[in-house]
Amino acid sequence: IMFLDTRVLRHLTAEDWRVLTAVEMGSKNHELVPTPLIERISRLKGGASGVHRSIATLAKSGLIGRMKEAKYDGYRLTYGGLDYLALHTHSSKDVVYSVGSRVGVGKESDIMIVADKTGEQKILKIHRLGRISFRTVKSNRDYLRNRQGGSWMYLSRLAAMKEYAFMQALQEEGFPVPEPISQSRHTIVMSLVESLPLRQVSAVPNPASLYAELIDLILRLAKHGLIHGDFNEFNILIKEERTNKYTIEDGEEKEEETVTLVPVIIDFPQMVSMDHVNAEMYFDRDVECIKRFFKKRFHFVPTSPGPFFKDAYKTVGKDGARRLDAAVEASGFTKKMLKELEKAIQEQQAKIDAGEAVPEDEELEEDEEDDDEEDSDDEEDEEDEQEEEEQAVFEIPASVGRPVEV
Ligand code: ADP
Ligand code: MG
Repeated sequence: IMFLDTRVLRHLTAEDWRVLTAVEMGSKNHELVPTPLIERISRLKGGASGVHRSIATLAKSGLIGRMKEAKYDGYRLTYGGLDYLALHTHSSKDVVYSVGSRVGVGKESDIMIVADKTGEQKILKIHRLGRISFRTVKSNRDYLRNRQGGSWMYLSRLAAMKEYAFMQALQEEGFPVPEPISQSRHTIVMSLVESLPLRQVSAVPNPASLYAELIDLILRLAKHGLIHGDFNEFNILIKEERTNKYTIEDGEEKEEETVTLVPVIIDFPQMVSMDHVNAEMYFDRDVECIKRFFKKRFHFVPTSPGPFFKDAYKTVGKDGARRLDAAVEASGFTKKMLKELEKAIQEQQAKIDAGEAVPEDEELEEDEEDDDEEDSDDEEDEEDEQEEEEQAVFEIPASVGRPVEV
């Protein structure tokens, strides 16, 4: 399995970037961008000579790929190529200067620690809708090949746009969410929350109060017209806030540290409106998720039932609460886009549920087997090209401890 090193980024020339951008532009209406078109767009953008040399460099680095059995000569952008373009944009905006280690592989994303020039750490979330089908066994490849060109790119970008729009709207309303910093293509940069996912919290001093706070968040979201849609122990981060209290006891000054647990919510691509046709199902599922977790982990069972969707629904937009579902739509996120994204997320979830899509780690073995087969294959070169294309190549070798400049 080949992984790319972000250090390659620094070796790309201005012309290489221009050609990579040309492939991206051409991808908007070509599944496979014809080489002459790449040349034309690159030249228009100011290049002249080395287009072919750049194409070779980019292909060798796995940023663009050829397709097997193509009817004409052309290239398409790989996930790695798109990653690099996005990183390039973040770095030219001075948002990202270096890339550190990967902190999480979600089912639809890669989460990386990045830092700006001042060394401040942030989170880069790379959306990977459709990745699972990229990485699963060969039967899925036909499905992919038949799909509309670039749709993984389009859908992953939609997911990032939606997540960013919601993070902004939620932050404006004072919800505890990471600070949205920048969005480019299928990626977003947000503040790093020093925390543990609730999933990793083994005990809390007062489960009842944390539970109440989380239910309150569900109700506050509802009041603003929203349902999180994946309100589980992985998407709730627990921050410890320490404050020192000074008291005078028997004429002596005493210092006492109090620790407050503050939940922060993340992961918004699947958020739905309270007016969604399945709103009640999503709402109940979020509530159930929290109840189930609190029972299992903290042996906490609330005394009263609910909250119920119908009661929450009555509060939508009340007391002047701004409807964030409407606000996000007004910002250019159309109903059609929301539908397309929802469908893609559901398909991905269905694959996970059906066990068709295996988590990455378990999958490595299969991939290795694939590689073995291919090694004994005479058409090795062609296979390799295809393999490169199907890898999510943006990865830092574990041996690189220090953040790598981009
Ligand atoms: P996915 O959509 O793949 O589930 P998430 O946005 O939920 O991705 O992120 C996956 C994991 O990465 C989280 O469970 C959390 O551990 C970590 N993470 C994500 N965003 C942040 C952040 N802003 N600060 C700290 N950790 C984060
Ligand atoms: Mg998540």
